[in-house]
Amino acid sequence: MNINSPLSHRTQEPENSVLYIVGTPIGNLDDISLRALNILKRVTFIACEDTRQTKKLMSKFGISNKLISFHQHNSINKIHFIVDSLKKEKSVALVSDAGMPSICDPGENLIKKVRENNYDVICIPGPCAALTALVSSGFPSSSFIFLGFLPRKKKERDQILQEISNFDNTTILYESPHRFKKLLIELKIFCGGDREIQVFRELTKKYEEQIGMNIDMVLRHFEDRNVVGEITIVINGRKNIKTSEINEFILKKDLTELIDAGLTLSSASSYLAKKKNIKKSLIYNLY
Ligand code: SAM
Repeated sequence: MNINSPLSHRTQEPENSVLYIVGTPIGNLDDISLRALNILKRVTFIACEDTRQTKKLMSKFGISNKLISFHQHNSINKIHFIVDSLKKEKSVALVSDAGMPSICDPGENLIKKVRENNYDVICIPGPCAALTALVSSGFPSSSFIFLGFLPRKKKERDQILQEISNFDNTTILYESPHRFKKLLIELKIFCGGDREIQVFRELTKKYEEQIGMNIDMVLRHFEDRNVVGEITIVINGRKNIKTSEINEFILKKDLTELIDAGLTLSSASSYLAKKKNIKKSLIYNLY
């Protein structure tokens, strides 16, 4: 099959020299698609992040295909092996532990290499935490920014947080549970406590939780809690918050915190004015 051929309606999946990228559930195993199950049964082997994780999915659906591990530490060797297998007319499915491979998961380099070698890449779409959270958030969803996990280094991290504070589009972030509260505090510092966010914990799972409103409220919700599980954060764009909605009480609190941290009234007011897109004098006069 030529990759440039029209893919209007696939009635029969190609069997030879194809890399299938297969989306798998992000929690609820019932979210697997029929097409995904069919491909996982039929390919020559499945490349997966953690064989134990993929075995759980396979045993639930009675699939017993060959698995090979494919993760960031062995990817160079495994990419060669997979491309070699495609040369021998084998078909391969790539899955990650959850969701869409290559979205903050291994796969990107493999897909690039397979394409460079002119083999076909076919995606069997499945759930993705980012999109599941986005469409549930109620924030504008036709145009959005997905950043995955923020960089850990302070300088890069602060720079991107500064950019997020000015984004007019909805922003989606992933974060691990033990770094989640730190991220919330950083978001409050950069975006202001009144920026609207929705936090999605354990999407599609038994203890799914959705907490929304603004950053201050979400911080309060998690204040005394030990956060566990998987978390996706959706942040509303700056321009979607009307000046009239800006809470004077929160503004005063932010201003006081910045002054207590050592900023002058003037620089604290400039900082908040830029962040919240309102006149500096309005903030200055609050103090
Ligand atoms: N490939 C996956 C996808 O398509 O969503 C993402 C993998 S990334 C390594 C894992 C991160 O995705 C988690 O730390 C969390 O931020 C987010 N995530 C995955 N499953 C989730 C769930 N059920 N609920 C909320 N967030 C989830």
